[in-house]
Amino acid sequence: MIAVESLYKQFGDLEVLKGIDLNVEQGKVVVVIGPSGSGKTTLLRCLNILETPTAGKVSIDNQTLDFSSKVPSSKIASFRRLTGMVFQSYNLFPHMTALQNVMEGPITVKKEQKAKVEEKARRLLVKVGLGDKADFYPFQLSGGQQQRVGIARALAMEPKVMLFDEATSALDPELVGEVLRVMKELAQEGMTMVVVTHEMQFAREVADEVIFMDKGVIVEKGKPEEIFESPKAERTKQFLRMIS
Ligand code: ATP
Repeated sequence: MIAVESLYKQFGDLEVLKGIDLNVEQGKVVVVIGPSGSGKTTLLRCLNILETPTAGKVSIDNQTLDFSSKVPSSKIASFRRLTGMVFQSYNLFPHMTALQNVMEGPITVKKEQKAKVEEKARRLLVKVGLGDKADFYPFQLSGGQQQRVGIARALAMEPKVMLFDEATSALDPELVGEVLRVMKELAQEGMTMVVVTHEMQFAREVADEVIFMDKGVIVEKGKPEEIFESPKAERTKQFLRMIS
């Protein structure tokens, strides 16, 4: 479903991604862990071209972008629709209700019919446990509830892949669980997911594969039990010691 080949990203002189290769099969969950500044967010942002890779290829669902030459913006726009992204900050429209936030993308971007979109949006709000909050504005919702609206909003675009960038990092500890539960349910339903997180328990329970990144490269990858119980690389061992 996702294939990344020799992906490089530079910000000025700073080389942040130094030749990333990654494959994610349909329905699998890959969790990316690693120290601050290792390039996890940048990798995720390169998957939906919020950052333009300096070089390399990114394929999702048989669409391939090759950054060895300039990629036309029309191609990028359609490629971006293959992924739904959930950010650390929820970025909901403050003047719109939960329902309107979820409906916005399908109506304005995909020009879907309003009645159908509303039905879908209500169903998605129920799915994330917010069926009774459809008419609430973001300021009337907790951080965890806002983030779940964010997930419903991303799902409303019917992406092939969901990308989560530290989706629970900004939440009070007691609100983290409700968001992770929704993410876990999505995984169980067979959504293909790439998740950047510091929640190691989630990684252990939900990941099909854990990727450890450091300094712009994938140092080690494997099943959660391999990475957490018997890491091979010294850098992985160090990182795991530091966070435990
Ligand atoms: P964290 O866990 O702290 O979020 P990360 O592993 O996600 O870290 P990135 O956010 O991908 O790391 O950042 C990797 C490096 O790239 C950092 O040194 C960061 O300062 C730099 N960087 C990221 N975005 C930009 C940008 N737009 N312009 C310049 N430098 C950037």
